[in-house]
Amino acid sequence: MTSSPSRPIAFRRILVKLSGEALMGEQPYGLDPAYVRRVAEELKAVHQAGCEICLVVGGGNIFRGVSVVAAGMDRLTGDHMGMLATVINALGLRSALEAIDVPTRVQSALAMNNICEPYIPARALRHLQKGRIVIFAAGTGNPYFTTDTAGALRAAEMNCDALFKATKVDGIYSADPMTNPDAVRYAKLTYRDIVAQNLHVMDHAAIELAEKNDIPLVVFNLNEPGALEQVVRGQGTFTLVERDTER
Ligand code: UDP
Repeated sequence: MTSSPSRPIAFRRILVKLSGEALMGEQPYGLDPAYVRRVAEELKAVHQAGCEICLVVGGGNIFRGVSVVAAGMDRLTGDHMGMLATVINALGLRSALEAIDVPTRVQSALAMNNICEPYIPARALRHLQKGRIVIFAAGTGNPYFTTDTAGALRAAEMNCDALFKATKVDGIYSADPMTNPDAVRYAKLTYRDIVAQNLHVMDHAAIELAEKNDIPLVVFNLNEPGALEQVVRGQGTFTLVERDTER
């Protein structure tokens, strides 16, 4: 990919949704410090370009609530454990960002005042205005939800210009491009297309929240070095999901 970061940033404030897997690297479980560092560097580049950044991180690299239900554990407990996993990831990411001099705060939807701030929207906005990255941990704070939905919710609450969904490919495809060579990448879609075609991007609750609050969804490849910055500058390859303006 050619790097020409000359264009001005196209988004003033974004929320980046990272799944837990993005921090896992090649490991079967947990966090790979080298990967976490690389993600932090990608975020730093965008931050230095002048973009305010909110982060929501998943927990699937450590724990998913539904995974224990089959083993006989109750869903509520499983989801609480899943939300705690997101806090572990948020702390790892904060540490990596602070290590490269990016001021970062973690706010958790579940109270854990000894290790991070509680989620206080006005305070989070203040952090952003002061040039700090804010990581929103513990998802929505409620069981039966996902961190995708938390991403859409916090993007709306923080008045973000777009919700950036980090994936392993450069956008939304008609089928899984990893297994289907005929898969076609879409440059633009509407929220309705995603639901109607059952495209696997984010869960439908997240799509619905984004649509209701008119927050464009940008799907990009986090594994491609420099791609995040390019997309923030309106360059590179990605899929943009928004309302159908022609209707
Ligand atoms: N979770 C939850 N409520 C939320 C967000 C997450 O209960 O608002 C739990 C749920 O058990 C989920 C786990 O936290 O499986 C990890 O989140 P997610 O699966 O969204 O992580 P990702 O797939 O993005 O890594």
